[in-house]
Amino acid sequence: MSIMDSILEILQQTLSVEDKFVSLHEPNFSGNEWLYVRECIDTGWVSSVGKFVDRFERDLAEFTGAKYAIGVVNGTAALHISYLLAGVVAGDEVLVPTLTFVGTVNPIAYIGAIPHFIDAEEHSLGLDPQVLDKYLNEITRREGGVCVNKRTGRPIRALCVMHTLGHPVDIDLIDEICKKYHIILIEDAAEALGSYYKNVHVGHRGLMGALSFNGNKIITTGGGGAILTNNDELAKRAKHLTTTAKHPHQWLFEHDQVGYNYRLPNINAALGCAQLEQLPQFLDAKRLLTKQYQNAFEKVKGIRFITEPEYAKSNYWLNALLLDESNVSYRDSLLESLGKHNIMTRPLWNLQHTLPMYKDCPRMPITVAENLQKRLIKIPSSSQLVKRKNKHTVVCE
Ligand SMILES: *Cc1c(COP(=O)(O)O)cnc(C)c1O
Repeated sequence: MSIMDSILEILQQTLSVEDKFVSLHEPNFSGNEWLYVRECIDTGWVSSVGKFVDRFERDLAEFTGAKYAIGVVNGTAALHISYLLAGVVAGDEVLVPTLTFVGTVNPIAYIGAIPHFIDAEEHSLGLDPQVLDKYLNEITRREGGVCVNKRTGRPIRALCVMHTLGHPVDIDLIDEICKKYHIILIEDAAEALGSYYKNVHVGHRGLMGALSFNGNKIITTGGGGAILTNNDELAKRAKHLTTTAKHPHQWLFEHDQVGYNYRLPNINAALGCAQLEQLPQFLDAKRLLTKQYQNAFEKVKGIRFITEPEYAKSNYWLNALLLDESNVSYRDSLLESLGKHNIMTRPLWNLQHTLPMYKDCPRMPITVAENLQKRLIKIPSSSQLVKRKNKHTVVCE
């Protein structure tokens, strides 16, 4: 059997679907969503103030173990505020993986700062600590406590890691490197709600971290995001900046700086509260689906099923297959043919350093990310796709 036929057969046998189109990741609304959203509409509390947005922030902080969670309109806004509060200013450089969604990078440009692209590694699909250390050693110098790019003369203020498809990067090692070079660590954990690095939830190891609740993420608020931090002062400033920098007052409109209208609306947070209640079940279902995929795909030659790094427990937001180098030429016909069978699969994002607006930005030699981009295929991973009662499938440990 060809690789193509093997993959199709496994997807059809693993997924609980009947002739309907299967997306990569669909929202699962099976809890209190209607109840909470109706309450917002019935009471009129639909906008930037209300009990659900406060509760959602508390629930998120409790779930992730972060001291604070600040609800915002989307993950990109969460990153924008994180970069601002990390002290990134126009003319700074910010290190980011080239293998990421454009939402990691755009907020750097909003500030007038310059993204500086880093290669990936095959193990976690994220940043490679060894390569990063060597690169920084080569291209930077220290100037009054600031890390400066010797080639451009610009400060390298921050580094944003991204936990790709939910798989955590080796954050211990990356944090160590950031400290060594005086670079502020930020985490784009948009894809990684429910992912753990050495038993600690990701997203608040750095100074600040960002979550996303877009419709394709593991839980959704329609659109939405959150900033995570353990820093009291930054949490206060994040809330202030995301609520138009208005001082709380019964009737006065006192704004003391240029703020942002980034507050997560209560009606979106209502959805979020209902979704968060179900997150543990979603995670169990997704890990079960992954186990079933893994057992089946292990037997197929010419591909590797992506699994979590050994230091991590991943949310397996999106499962993925990595084609062997020799099978790269099949990628596009694979995507097309599975689509014809009503199964959605997708390649990774175009690498950020190849996009027209970022093509002239500084970068290290990019080889691994280019290779991964050609070989990786994301496959359907929604929690409701798992077949639970089939005796022939292996039960998750
Ligand atoms: C989803 C996502 C974001 C944020 O997306 P929003 O649509 O703005 O919520 C940022 N980075 C990555 C890697 C993402 O996957």
